[in-house]
Amino acid sequence: MLKCKHVVEKADALVDGAPLSKRERFALRLHLLICHHCRRYVRQLRVLLNSLPRNPDALDDARTREVLERLDSSQDR
Ligand SMILES: [Zn+2]
Repeated sequence: MLKCKHVVEKADALVDGAPLSKRERFALRLHLLICHHCRRYVRQLRVLLNSLPRNPDALDDARTREVLERLDSSQDR
């Protein structure tokens, strides 16, 4: 069984759609089914990555606040 540490290491690959072996992907998904800490981590990472513009210079204060608020609200679910 995967440890949380491994899930965290592989989480951006999972969220990003980077290549993972079928076995890795399966192990990650299985872990996410049983571990709500990692589920929350992956969800927040996904929100964060989806919120970030491709160009970091475009991240002004208002946008940063919006991202942080979105992260906050995703924590309670
Ligand atoms: Zn975990």
